Amino acid sequence: MKEASLFRLTKEGRIMCTACARYCQLSDGQVGFCGVRKNIGGELFLLSYGRVIAAQIDPIEKKPVSHYMPGSRIFSIGTTGCNFMCRYCINYDLSQRREVAGAVTSPIQLVNLALEKNCQGMAFTYNEPEIFLEFARDIGVEAHKKKLFNIFVSNGYGTPDSVAMMSQFLDCLTVDFKGNGNRNFVRKFIGIPDVQPLLDTLTDIKAATNIHIEITDLVVPGVGDDLSDARNLAKWIFDNLGPDTPVHFLRFFPDYKMLDFPETPIETLEAHWEIAKKEGLNYVYIGNVPGHPLEHTYCPSCKKVIVRRYGVNVTGWHLTNDNRCKYCDEKIAIFGDFRGSWRNEKLLIA
Ligand code: SF4
Repeated sequence: MKEASLFRLTKEGRIMCTACARYCQLSDGQVGFCGVRKNIGGELFLLSYGRVIAAQIDPIEKKPVSHYMPGSRIFSIGTTGCNFMCRYCINYDLSQRREVAGAVTSPIQLVNLALEKNCQGMAFTYNEPEIFLEFARDIGVEAHKKKLFNIFVSNGYGTPDSVAMMSQFLDCLTVDFKGNGNRNFVRKFIGIPDVQPLLDTLTDIKAATNIHIEITDLVVPGVGDDLSDARNLAKWIFDNLGPDTPVHFLRFFPDYKMLDFPETPIETLEAHWEIAKKEGLNYVYIGNVPGHPLEHTYCPSCKKVIVRRYGVNVTGWHLTNDNRCKYCDEKIAIFGDFRGSWRNEKLLIA
C-alpha cells in the first residue's frame, strides 16, 4: 500500500479519484469501485501498490500487439481489482476480487526479474492498469532505465490526469472496445454508461504523446456484433487515430457469466474485417482464430503477405531491415524489428 497521487479534493471535503473516468468520490474509509483505492484519513492510498497476483512471459503478439517490437518477449503482470465488470471476463478471478491479494514485490525486483528472463518489455495486463497507475509508473520508469519498453493492455477508460501519467513512461497502448463500442452493450455487459471516455483518452494520447496505439474489439455474437457500429468505429479510428492504426477483431468465447453465449462465427469476424478495410484502415486483423489467413499482415500496396502468423507466433516475414515490403518497397507501419522466437514460460509468483 502506498499514497496515490491521482486525485483532487472536492468542495465537500471528499477525495475524487482521477485515475479513471469513474471519478469515484470517497469519504474517509471508503474504497473506490475498483476495490484498490481507499480514502484513509483524508489521503488516497493505492492498496494494491507492490502486490502482483499474476506474472508470466508472453510473446507481444498475445496482447495482441502486432506493429510494435514484433516477436519480443514480454514480462506481463497483473494485480487485483478492475473498474469494469465485464460479464465475460476471462480473468474474473483477479479482476473482480474485492480483497487485495498477491505477492509483495517492488518495481526494481520486477524489472530485474524481467531482465533475468531475457524480456524486452513489461506489460501491465490481466486487469485494468489505470487503477494501479502509480505502481505501473514506478515500474515503468525503472524499466526504461534498463532499456525495457512498457505496454498497457487497457480498457481506455481514462482521464486527462491518467494520460499525463502514462506519458511519463508508456511506449505502447492497446485499447479494447468490446461489442463494437455499442452503447447498449457496454451498459449491459460492461457496466459503463458509454464509450466517450475511451474516445477522449485515445485522442488525448494521440495528440499529446508518441505512444504507439493498437485497437482491439471483442465481437460478441447477437449482442455486440452490429455492422453499422463496426463501420462507425472504423471511421472514428481512421479520422482520429489514422489509417495505419492496427485494429484486431477478436473472437468471443463463453466465460464467467456469459457461458450460455456462442462463440463468434468466423463469418461475422470476416464481415467486420471487410468493413474496416472499406473504411480505409490498412492493417486489420482477426484474432483468436489460429490459422486464419487474416492473422497475417498484408502489404497495403502490393497486397502480398509480409508478416505470417499462426496464433501468437510470427512464422515468417518479408520485410527489409527498415520494415519495407520486400516485394514492392512500401514502408510498413511497424515499429522495431523482429526479435526471433519466444518461450511461453509461466512464472506465477502468487
Ligand atoms: S480508479 Fe478506482 S477509485 Fe479511481 S475512479 Fe476509477 S474505479 Fe474509482
